[in-house]
Amino acid sequence: MALDPESLPDHPTPLLTQEAITARVADLAAQIRADYASTRDLHMVCVLKGAFVFFSDLVRALDRRVTLDFIVVSSYQKATRSSGEVRLVKDLDTGIEGRDVIIVEDIVDTGLTLTYLQEILRARGPRSLKTACLLSKPSRRKVEVPVDYVGFTIEDRFVIGYGLDYAEIYRNLPYIGVLDEG
Ligand code: 5GP
Repeated sequence: MALDPESLPDHPTPLLTQEAITARVADLAAQIRADYASTRDLHMVCVLKGAFVFFSDLVRALDRRVTLDFIVVSSYQKATRSSGEVRLVKDLDTGIEGRDVIIVEDIVDTGLTLTYLQEILRARGPRSLKTACLLSKPSRRKVEVPVDYVGFTIEDRFVIGYGLDYAEIYRNLPYIGVLDEG
């Protein structure tokens, strides 16, 4: 799907409202808080750029002590389909050996990005490594990848908003919308 940026709507059709997302993020935070109740230090890793809004809502909803870091990977260019190539653009600032780590990702689609991330981070010897994804599109999976916390399972639609972009547009949309016709 290639769209002309000039013809993109300002307010795309909603798929998930702000209210639905807020409620689900609170659920995920409660689950994580319970699962890590006996863990003193929890290290949350935000996968930029797409997860930045989800991450900031999730870590504030956690209501517990955490440390944060950011990693940048690139898999999509201007297109709405993955090239299948994952590139590490910016690494973590701190080591994760012996730490309890949760990767926070926007969406798992083919699974290639997450597989890559889990492999490179697991190789650094964390005490535990889990993953939280706001969205999952299981019908697009090319590789099976474990996701411990999933916000919403969605159909094969191209979604934008709440951190997700099309050609860097829509990241600030407060809800998740669809650009394709479905
Ligand atoms: P995967 O490697 O699982 O195919 O893709 C993961 C990455 O592709 C996500 O982190 C996200 O950046 C991008 N992506 C996958 N599906 C969508 C989508 O529907 N909308 C947007 N904006 N990005 C997507």
